[in-house]
Amino acid sequence: MPRITRRELLGLLGLSVSAAGVAGGSGIIYLLLSSGRRVSPSELPTPTPARPAQVKSIDRPAIVRRTDWNAREPDHSAPNETGFFTPQNAEGWLDYDGDLRAVYRTVVVHHSVLVEDDDPGTMREIQNEHMDKRGWADIGYHFGVGRSGTVFEGRALGARGTHVAGFNTGSVGVVFFGNFQEEAPTPEQLDAGSRLINWLALRLELTHLAGHGEFNSFTECPGRNLAYYLDALAESAGLLRGTEGYIDPDDVE
Ligand SMILES: [Zn+2]
Repeated sequence: MPRITRRELLGLLGLSVSAAGVAGGSGIIYLLLSSGRRVSPSELPTPTPARPAQVKSIDRPAIVRRTDWNAREPDHSAPNETGFFTPQNAEGWLDYDGDLRAVYRTVVVHHSVLVEDDDPGTMREIQNEHMDKRGWADIGYHFGVGRSGTVFEGRALGARGTHVAGFNTGSVGVVFFGNFQEEAPTPEQLDAGSRLINWLALRLELTHLAGHGEFNSFTECPGRNLAYYLDALAESAGLLRGTEGYIDPDDVE
């Protein structure tokens, strides 16, 4: 069972970041500013599906760079993500063109299942598994969130991830370390993960948050004890829940 409740998590977020919450079936938005001032609904503009306009910035969270967890370089001869993207090699490594805010729409939440003795070790082991066993060019996720609350840089944000089959384009991948079918995320991990997601939502102008299994029904990822918190994580970042934000790249051109 999760160790802290959804309500407690929202309380935690209200204290720790400039979090915005959408409350009530009427869609009234309350802003819980870091000062604790509650803005009355009459002061607010018409709610939109994206985050409230009042929240203009959230500090970039501390992120451990690839060189600091001894990441391997991407391998562009990897058998299952070979070479670079071309129309003829649509599954190849894709470096996005232009403004990433025009690319990303959804943050997809995962669990790692495997956990090593320390968080950097878990990050390295995930990368090893993705490169050596799954044959991908690099770790598939863009960010990792450790049990201690440490956040790690994964695949470069400018490159398409490999973490949600058939829906990778425009989806930023965040993996929480743990097997959340069996254990619960730590409070430090939930706090760090929510700060990261809030920052990504603003930085990339995201619209949606989804668990991996909502896109790929063959997986239980991110596990029931993390899935329990997805509504609260989305709410605090001003994101809608689910897969509706995904746009097939073939429909964009
Ligand atoms: Zn997953």
